[in-house]
Amino acid sequence: MTLAGARRRVRARIGGTVQGVGFRPYVFKLAARLELSGFVLNDERGVLVEVEGEGAIIDRFLECLPAEAPPLATVEAVWREEVAPTGELGFRIVASAGGGETSALVAPDSATCADCLTELFDPTDRRFRYPFTNCTNCGPRFTIVQGVPYDRHRTTMAGFRMCRPCRAEYDDPADRRFHAQPNACPECGPSVRLTDASGAAADAAGAGDAIEAAAWALRDGAIVAIKGLGGFHLACRAGDERAVAALRSRKHREAKPFALMVGSVEAARELVEVGQLEEALLTGRERPIVLCLRRAGAPVAHEVAPRSRELGVMLPYSPLHHLLLADISVPLVMTSGNLSDEPIAYHDADGVHRLAEVADLFLQHDRPIQTRTDDSVLRVVRAGGRQRALPLRRSRGYVPGGLELPVEAPPLLACGAELKSTFCIAKGRRAWMGHHIGDLRNYETLRAYREGIGHFERLFAVDPEVIAHDLHPDYLSTAYALERAGVELVAVQHHHAHLAACLAEHGESGPAVGAIFDGSGLGPDGTVWGGELLYG
Ligand SMILES: [Zn+2]
Ligand SMILES: [Zn+2]
Repeated sequence: MTLAGARRRVRARIGGTVQGVGFRPYVFKLAARLELSGFVLNDERGVLVEVEGEGAIIDRFLECLPAEAPPLATVEAVWREEVAPTGELGFRIVASAGGGETSALVAPDSATCADCLTELFDPTDRRFRYPFTNCTNCGPRFTIVQGVPYDRHRTTMAGFRMCRPCRAEYDDPADRRFHAQPNACPECGPSVRLTDASGAAADAAGAGDAIEAAAWALRDGAIVAIKGLGGFHLACRAGDERAVAALRSRKHREAKPFALMVGSVEAARELVEVGQLEEALLTGRERPIVLCLRRAGAPVAHEVAPRSRELGVMLPYSPLHHLLLADISVPLVMTSGNLSDEPIAYHDADGVHRLAEVADLFLQHDRPIQTRTDDSVLRVVRAGGRQRALPLRRSRGYVPGGLELPVEAPPLLACGAELKSTFCIAKGRRAWMGHHIGDLRNYETLRAYREGIGHFERLFAVDPEVIAHDLHPDYLSTAYALERAGVELVAVQHHHAHLAACLAEHGESGPAVGAIFDGSGLGPDGTVWGGELLYG
């Protein structure tokens, strides 16, 4: 028993998405507010806190800790134990510890927050029109992270040395940018430039910067390749019949719809029907492409989405996109920067080389992308008076968010199928779905698949003992699984895998009857299956 008034010291370990999301400054401020002493640190398992002070105040601290956590944090568990008071005075943030097991969760990339947007458009701010503005509440995460614990030298920002004002923000626990790993400003951070395919500068006379010059070129009908958060987009004015038709023919993409980026929800409403849930998805920090019903007479070129009743729209999610949309103030086509079925380009030289035939100009930047990540795609489905968001492609903004499993899993890798491929790794009661990879029969995509699996295994410290693969012996994902030695291999029928995935997604462990309607999948009887009722 502990007396409420007596001095206590409690050690608390916090698990979940708690690194790179402003959690330590949050703990620091909370402890300071309650006048508790102790420390907080990041380690491989998450965040560790020790607080010391009056018993009742410590209880209040532990109550507030998950309840008032910062917007990008997800507290999944708090383990606590009483330890002997040390008489420590003051509260400290301690540098990251090394060693131990890696299970701290890396946060997904997140759309620019309201505070950063205000700075972006404030002519008196030192980050006015700076396209890499971010803070602990927003900005790149998964696409720049190279290892854990999440620290600047394990991200693609390692090559940029912070200037004194940035460093001061980074070191100040009271600052919104305290330990914001991608922190940068025009003095010390990445920069954008507009070039032609040969790499020569293509700045326009009179334009204030490269982004404004790109907006002018787009207005004049150019196709511009734009390096974003997870790779290159190909952009042109959505209402420009000639530019959109040229993009479609140069991209060799006969009928697949192009996604659009609009400056605001109001701008989206001019093109599509936006219900309450659609609006929430469009403005959420994940910023997916949302498929919405097209309005009659929507002012977009015919070639944007021929024969489709829907348009895929998204709002700007990085400062660069915000600036571009503000400068051009009309909807843009923003489709993946690739040719037909190739994966989206994300390395600078590779992007320019591969897109040289498609784009007139290139808006590039020098912050490297660690992991190629496509835009996510969602649709709202309505059934029985209820509506919910249905992910069609779960990628940027959502990965590498984990999934709680209804059953305990050994360290495991599931290799997925061959088309629209994704992989999944799991350990204990947690699974991490990989980002959207694409068609593995493309050499580049297969390489991205192999690299992606390696990256996830390192990030989440999963050394698979079991590898699940499709029953089909000729899938390249199956071939990959068979290459890996010293593990238990489990062949899973394609449609049975859909049933099991559906159960896991909804936290059920079965048995259940599932109706699976899919493309062809090899059955255990050697025939090709198409649509079945399965029990499992
Ligand atoms: Zn921010
Ligand atoms: Zn700086």
